Amino acid sequence: MTLPRLVPPAAVDATATAALRAEVRGFLAEQRAAGAFTPSVDAWLTGWDEDFTKALAAQGYLGMTVPLEYGGHGRSFVERFAVTEELLAAGAPVAAHWIADRQIVPSLLKYGTELQKREFLPRIVRGECFFGIGMSEPDSGSDLASVRTRAVRVDGGWSLSGTKVWTSGAHNAHAFIALARTAPVDPDNRHAGLSQFIVDLRGPGVDIRPVVSMNGAHHFNEVILDGAFVPDDMVFGEIGAGWRQVTSELAFERSGPERFLSTFVLLRACGEKTAAQQIPRDAGLGRLVARVAGLHQMSTAVAGALERREPADVPAAVVKVLGTTTEGDIADFADVLTDATTDPSLAELVSKAVDQRPGFTLRGGTNEVLRGVIARGLGLR
Ligand SMILES: Cc1cc2nc3c(=O)[nH]c(=O)nc-3n(C[C@H](O)[C@H](O)[C@H](O)COP(=O)(O)OP(=O)(O)OC[C@H]3O[C@@H](n4cnc5c(N)ncnc54)[C@H](O)[C@@H]3O)c2cc1C
Repeated sequence: MTLPRLVPPAAVDATATAALRAEVRGFLAEQRAAGAFTPSVDAWLTGWDEDFTKALAAQGYLGMTVPLEYGGHGRSFVERFAVTEELLAAGAPVAAHWIADRQIVPSLLKYGTELQKREFLPRIVRGECFFGIGMSEPDSGSDLASVRTRAVRVDGGWSLSGTKVWTSGAHNAHAFIALARTAPVDPDNRHAGLSQFIVDLRGPGVDIRPVVSMNGAHHFNEVILDGAFVPDDMVFGEIGAGWRQVTSELAFERSGPERFLSTFVLLRACGEKTAAQQIPRDAGLGRLVARVAGLHQMSTAVAGALERREPADVPAAVVKVLGTTTEGDIADFADVLTDATTDPSLAELVSKAVDQRPGFTLRGGTNEVLRGVIARGLGLR
């Protein structure tokens, strides 16, 4: 039996983005010198800094793949990948625009109407419009087809009612794309009858309640939709095609460098402290560096596949399972290696990494579920 290839060939020439990477590193060094940010763990999810987002926009680092006609920069997906990888490796606070730039841009380009593209893309490129993801519900996470939020046809649009949960950044975002049921469940095809809507998070019928994490941070929310009105021109894609649309978005959500670099600043700090003989030498450090290097190659290969518009859901699942496991292992490694005598800045990185660790393998699809996707890709189920 010959198993199919799990990750696309690495057809990306690293030298092609070397100058761009150097430019981003120069910009980040300037920003750090100016005190614009302190490198942090998991900063792509928790580092909400709209000023930093504006500074990135001014450099042309937002909406890089958006065509010029929509105010973007018309650059390649691989160039965007290089920029985001540099930002993540530096632990820069990129959460404000992350979801909009990562998955709303490609989704709008694929499914958005001309009006929606003109409404949102230029504002995303300028760092002025932030999005959330409205998929999970109290009884629906891994099994998204079970969402209960309902959209009912009303004069001029749709009325949405239901509860979304774990909605990252909803309290700061302008809108989210909600997945809702527009037709009753068909037991023979549970994926039918789902649709997507662009919901104004600051509009009537939307109540955003904080879900405070155990470390006291307010990152998540519960979003209660109580007859929230969505006009016809904010229906996203086709009514009834929500499942197909959502699943095509997932390769963008799962394969990127944020799935293996969330704790990179901590790994780097451990390397520097080891070199300075401030923490004990440990062979585990080299193993983790090697894993990150391998993940960089795999994630780059998926970026190349996305550029070529090849289906990439299975390779994206592979990157996410291996990458998020590595992020957690870095947190555990640093936690064991360091102690109360560790300097405060490293101790803070360790503490935050350990706090955030449980979410790494859950968000964007759990590792158990993704292993099922991989098994299906291998033809094993
Ligand atoms: C940091 C973070 C940020 C998030 N941000 C967002 C967001 O912005 N928007 C949003 O919509 N959601 C968000 N989520 C929610 C996330 O997508 C869900 O937590 C995830 O999809 C899992 O769903 P659940 O929590 O309902 O767990 P469940 O689906 O209830 O799963 C519980 C356990 O059962 C296992 N399991 C479930 N089904 C299977 C199966 N078929 N085979 C094997 N094992 C299975 C799971 O792996 C898991 O271990 C976020 C989550 C985290 C941690």
